[in-house]
Amino acid sequence: MTQDKRKVVVIGTGFVGMSYAYAMLNRNVCDELVLIDIDKKRAIGEAMDLNHGLAFSSANMRIYAGEYSDCGDADIVAICAGVSQKAGETRTDLLQRNAEVFKSIVTPVIESGFDGIFLIATNPVDIMTRITCKLSGFDSSRVFGTGTTLDTARLRYLLGDYFSIDPRNVHAYVMGEHGDSEFVPWSQAMVTTKPVLEICEESRGKYTREEMEALSVEVREAAYKIIEAKRATYYGIGMAMTRITQAVFGNENSVLTVSAKLNGEYGQKDVYIGVPAVVNRNGIRDVVRLPLSKAELNKFSDSCDKLQNLYNELKL
Ligand code: NAD
Repeated sequence: MTQDKRKVVVIGTGFVGMSYAYAMLNRNVCDELVLIDIDKKRAIGEAMDLNHGLAFSSANMRIYAGEYSDCGDADIVAICAGVSQKAGETRTDLLQRNAEVFKSIVTPVIESGFDGIFLIATNPVDIMTRITCKLSGFDSSRVFGTGTTLDTARLRYLLGDYFSIDPRNVHAYVMGEHGDSEFVPWSQAMVTTKPVLEICEESRGKYTREEMEALSVEVREAAYKIIEAKRATYYGIGMAMTRITQAVFGNENSVLTVSAKLNGEYGQKDVYIGVPAVVNRNGIRDVVRLPLSKAELNKFSDSCDKLQNLYNELKL
């Protein structure tokens, strides 16, 4: 990783890619930002638009629409490119098409000599991250996805509201697939350092496990609701990606629920899935092993099986 400048390449300058770029510009997260899209004209227009905002920003960034050869000295290549579901298309067919899109992206990125970190946002993010790891041949510590970082942020916000506590003092995670089989391990959720299950028990009905469960359903269904209302979700994920990028450039050792490859943690191997992991300048330092209850481990295992089966259906 280069020390003198922080360089990010965003591939896919749609809603998600540009929300990420815009959030980075506003938070001065990198020094050089390259935009790549199959629709080159779009990438050029987006670069122009962002550059015109520089005068109002505290950032001193170099922003331009580039080529895959620009990835050679990048620190992070973030992939937000993807095709959307066609009418009548199955999830597996969509996945297969997105796998082809990723082949057309990862191959030229590697050919550029890129030696940094891949950050993946394209859905289904856990599978797309695994595909990127396989196509790149990189060590899995340098390939990770946004996983359940956004879901975890949504959960902390809702729990903060429920307990009337600043979400920054709520320590709880959404784990598993970024999708329908994700779950909240309540045994590991704390407000300050007090377990939420204990708070519920002592509250004489003011706070209940059932109401918290309803919040986790709200988290799981948030994307559906947003898509129904405005066709796509992008600001939240753009900010989650920015947060992950800061953790990398700041060498923070921050715990974020990214999509990481498991190597025996939670009794699972090879699958990529949302787990709390320590993120720093080298990528993923460790996957955090939480003492999940038996029921939580079963949920996690079901989520892993679902992702493994989906991955097995792919022709790579
Ligand atoms: P979008 O359609 O607005 O943007 C996709 C972009 O990818 C387009 O600009 C398109 O031209 C580009 N593209 C397509 N094929 C390409 C290729 N071969 N090479 C380069 N660029 C290519 O879509 P969006 O709303 O930005 O969503 C992008 C992805 O992010 C989707 O898969 C979506 O499901 C996912 N997403 C993930 C999360 C998360 O939590 N991980 C949240 C929201 C959206």
